[in-house]
Amino acid sequence: MDQVDAVVVGAGVVGLAVGRMLARRGLETLVLERETAIGTGVSSRNSEVIHAGLYYPAGSLKARLCVQGRHLLYAHCESHGVAHRRCGKLIVATSADQLPALAALQDKARANGVDDLQWLDGAQARAMEPALRCEAALWSPSTGIVDSHGLMLSLQGDLEAGGGAVALGAELRAVRPVAGGFELDIHDAGSGAMRLGCATLVNAAGLWAPRVARAIEGLRDLPEARYSKGSYFSLQGRSPFSRLIYPLPQDAWLGVHLTLDLGGQTRFGPDAQWLDAAASPAALDYQVDPARAQAFYADVRRYWPALPDGALTPAYSGVRPKIHGPGEPAPDFRVDGPAQHGIAGLANLMGIESPGLTSALAIAQEVEARLFAA
Ligand SMILES: Cc1cc2nc3c(=O)[nH]c(=O)nc-3n(C[C@H](O)[C@H](O)[C@H](O)COP(=O)(O)OP(=O)(O)OC[C@H]3O[C@@H](n4cnc5c(N)ncnc54)[C@H](O)[C@@H]3O)c2cc1C
Repeated sequence: MDQVDAVVVGAGVVGLAVGRMLARRGLETLVLERETAIGTGVSSRNSEVIHAGLYYPAGSLKARLCVQGRHLLYAHCESHGVAHRRCGKLIVATSADQLPALAALQDKARANGVDDLQWLDGAQARAMEPALRCEAALWSPSTGIVDSHGLMLSLQGDLEAGGGAVALGAELRAVRPVAGGFELDIHDAGSGAMRLGCATLVNAAGLWAPRVARAIEGLRDLPEARYSKGSYFSLQGRSPFSRLIYPLPQDAWLGVHLTLDLGGQTRFGPDAQWLDAAASPAALDYQVDPARAQAFYADVRRYWPALPDGALTPAYSGVRPKIHGPGEPAPDFRVDGPAQHGIAGLANLMGIESPGLTSALAIAQEVEARLFAA
């Protein structure tokens, strides 16, 4: 049986960041990816926003890793030439009764260490974005956008420079803990079934992570995978906005926001639609239903009343890797290490939804601390 030091399951942004960290520690590292390319999962179907870290409960992993991850991500983009833009965003209160919630968001952000938010009245906000309608806004200058694929390629480059590799078309099917590590059953698209040994194993399988966790003998208390689809619509024609515009969040959903991509295109989304609890990630339907545009027009016109009829066209969708169901409180990222499950050398990442892209480099540091702390 072949043997490597470390295996990461999943070549999305989180798996690649973790693989890079392991390779930089000098471990011979293999990142397994069931698809034929890196980054075809959740990491390629999102808003590509570098979040400041405003929204998450104080003391949560989401709050801490988003703020740390944002700093690491900007530094990484600058040192590796990954396309990104610190365009900033406005979070808007569109009626007077939303002002207390906007103030509460500013307090929450401060508690999370986000100290650069500025309160703007309606006139100040319109001086920045004349097409905007709002009573007041919070200006977040440290929010930005990033080329997520360029980021993943740079992480893969660092992994390979550290002697690691990505194995494409390689699906992890079963794991047995053995003395000193793990025995893995892998299905390789080219050579069929194979067996591999490793001392360190990290499950970063995104939508599939709870299933992969169930394939690891000895893990208990695992959540069910749940899926929440988010659809996007593109704006036809020129956008009057040069910054991101977000409504106030509703529970854990950030609302239909306006995002820009690095190519200058404007899109709106994602909305939120729970999918069948029994769905398989392999069978998820990513089509955007054009009928969902009606709700988008209503939501967007609260902050941009001049949105023209017929300006929205279906763009793409993504699916959030949830580990809770409708109506239940949103849980934190689950980064389970030996202290949580009792298996040395194993880290199991589940529920890595937004802000997972922003947090990826900090999640890798967290995995490092949980696996290798003395
Ligand atoms: C609609 C939407 C909008 C979002 N917007 C933002 C945003 O603006 N900013 C932000 O910070 N975050 C955002 N996120 C969250 C962010 O995209 C995710 O947190 C992040 O991409 C998760 O990356 P990952 O590597 O964990 O998962 P993935 O990218 O899904 O990677 C997991 C990989 O594991 C592979 N895999 C699965 N099972 C196996 C197996 N058995 N063997 C081998 N390989 C396997 C899969 O094929 C996949 O490539 C958004 C998410 C969604 C859905």
